Amino acid sequence: LNYAKTKFVTSAPDINHLPADTGIEIAFAGRSNAGKSSALNTLTNQKNLARTSKTPGRTQLINLFEVAPNCRLVDLPGYGFAQVPEEVKRKWQKSLGEYLHKRESLKGLVILMDIRHPLKDLDQQMIDWAVQSELPVMLLLTKADKLASGAQKKQLNMVKEAILPFQGDITVATFSSLKRTGLEQLRQKLDYWFEQ
Ligand code: GDP
Repeated sequence: LNYAKTKFVTSAPDINHLPADTGIEIAFAGRSNAGKSSALNTLTNQKNLARTSKTPGRTQLINLFEVAPNCRLVDLPGYGFAQVPEEVKRKWQKSLGEYLHKRESLKGLVILMDIRHPLKDLDQQMIDWAVQSELPVMLLLTKADKLASGAQKKQLNMVKEAILPFQGDITVATFSSLKRTGLEQLRQKLDYWFEQ
């Protein structure tokens, strides 16, 4: 697929307002500031497709993009932002779980984690939900350029070891929007999921 052709379709305030559950959807999730918007912009070769934001935690929307007819990328709001009220967090987590469990068109989940701080509680919760739903996962260790290559490999291996107990279909890759590393691996995985 040509990801440069990706276009914004619509935003939804929550899971209950998503468009019809048809075609194939691949969702992107991650803690606020993990580098999700940057990764989506890099993938699609567009500067402003997903908004990179320095003020996370505002009212956040689910953004839907179309790569090709019936092939959508879903940008889920970042989680784990400290300044969001507990009540709002709980609500959002509940609907994230529902989305992962119930969305028929959802065929893959990309979880972005800063390579320096991977596998926080909510990341593990997301992986757990995905595995429960038999949804394949790609973990991107973002901002890899912040570490020397030896340290990158060490983190990659540590994460690979740590996810073994989940016993799911989980791929791990290092990624950098700045250096465009891991991009080809991401594209190949998305192509594979979209072509199922
Ligand atoms: P989001 O909240 O997950 O959408 O994260 P953003 O994409 O807005 O990125 C958060 C911050 O990390 C911004 O300051 C980005 O410039 C920075 N960032 C994102 N990707 C990279 C990367 O690959 N390398 C480096 N060095 N910084 C990055």
